Amino acid sequence: MTASSENTRVAIIGAGPAGATLAAFLARKGVSAVILDDGARPPLIVGESLVPQLVAVFRSLGIEDEVAKIGVYKPGVTFTFTPEDELRLSFDAVRGVLPPYAYNVPRKEFDALILQTALRDGAHYIEAAAKCEVEKSAHPVQSRVRLSEQTLARVPEWAGRQPDLIIDATGRRRVLSKLLGVGAKEGKRTDVSHFAHYENCPWPEPRGTIMIIRMKQGWAWKIPLPGSLLSIGIVVNRDYAKKFGATSEEQLENIISEEPRIAQDCGGRRRVSKVATFANYQLISHCGAGQNWAMVGDAFGFVDPMLSPGLCMAMVSAEKLAGIIPTQAEGCRKLPASLAKYCQWYVRTLSSWQNLVDYFYDGRIFAIQRAGMEMAARHPGRISDMIERHIGKNLSGMASGALINHPYSRWLLSTLGKYGRGGYQPAEFAIS
Ligand SMILES: Cc1cc2nc3c(=O)[nH]c(=O)nc-3n(C[C@H](O)[C@H](O)[C@H](O)COP(=O)(O)OP(=O)(O)OC[C@H]3O[C@@H](n4cnc5c(N)ncnc54)[C@H](O)[C@@H]3O)c2cc1C
Repeated sequence: MTASSENTRVAIIGAGPAGATLAAFLARKGVSAVILDDGARPPLIVGESLVPQLVAVFRSLGIEDEVAKIGVYKPGVTFTFTPEDELRLSFDAVRGVLPPYAYNVPRKEFDALILQTALRDGAHYIEAAAKCEVEKSAHPVQSRVRLSEQTLARVPEWAGRQPDLIIDATGRRRVLSKLLGVGAKEGKRTDVSHFAHYENCPWPEPRGTIMIIRMKQGWAWKIPLPGSLLSIGIVVNRDYAKKFGATSEEQLENIISEEPRIAQDCGGRRRVSKVATFANYQLISHCGAGQNWAMVGDAFGFVDPMLSPGLCMAMVSAEKLAGIIPTQAEGCRKLPASLAKYCQWYVRTLSSWQNLVDYFYDGRIFAIQRAGMEMAARHPGRISDMIERHIGKNLSGMASGALINHPYSRWLLSTLGKYGRGGYQPAEFAIS
């Protein structure tokens, strides 16, 4: 076999959903895809609520039935922004654009399913903490990376040959960013998030719906999970959290107990998992690919847990990246140009999510909702219903992932944000 007819070799560092999805799509088109993972995934992983765009990815991977077996059918999201007001986003509004539902999943089982899918499709898995070295240039985009000799030796099938492409799918550890000195734009919020699984808590209605609760400070989630479990998480300012105790357990329990919309329903709750904690997660890398490397999933960036864009970005971007990686190594010469376009799409999409998420934090979305309800009450009838459906389709379409970059949906949201708030002040509904 001549070098020019060899199949592309891709080293994927990290076996989370981003890395495993990429490996599955690459392996099925004949690329030699090797996943290197340090095996250090904790038993409790955050990111259990999914959006409908992911259902399309599950269908491409051929695993929707298996996801349905390990998950809970999710028809939508309810936001409670005052004790009296709710904003119900039903995924039914995206019918015709996307599957009108998603799933809530326990991450351990879900991540294992994606990895098994990659292995079934022909990817290889090696448990090893991958180390890379860099041939540095003036700018990371011009730099090339390679696996260290020690790491390469763990991949016998490549017989000492370096991969054509190295992918950073290491999540928030961002190994290539650190190696190459790639900076990131950090988000404004300085939150900490604690979460755990509970028994003996009723699920929000309709069944499978997740609930986002605006609290006195910050917000909380309730995510129904199989086995009648409820995942409860809080996202609050770090200094504020410290007032509720020294440990993550104290902070989570005491903040839950203070919030009537959780404490009343979940008075008899029993915590059945450890408490997991996350902080400093809002960032977008300045540069996500170079000559022979690229980032995918959280390694590239993550906006915020609000609206659950994390796994959607991780898996949709993995599918997109797999689409541009050539099966034959000789095609990799043109890869830097395709990777540059991939990066533009990635940054644009993360920024669109950030923009949508901002409407929920600064209260504009709830001001729009209040004004809309008032208008519908004042002018009931077919036209009002049509306007409501139209706005619902576009906003749910954005929150579902499919319309997140759609120019018309974005224009509609921005116009409503400016002129569709009636007399309501967004600050009244803002999440501090
Ligand atoms: C508070 C909070 C709430 C969230 N809620 C949601 C939600 O409801 N829905 C949602 O979709 N998303 C949510 N997310 C985001 C979601 O958790 C992430 O987007 C998702 O897990 C990213 O997957 P990934 O594959 O990119 O990275 P990860 O899942 O982090 O996988 C990275 C893998 O790389 C491995 N690794 C790291 N370094 C090395 C190395 N040197 N060598 C080998 N292996 C290595 C790690 O062990 C790990 O297995 C939330 C995030 C936060 C912070």
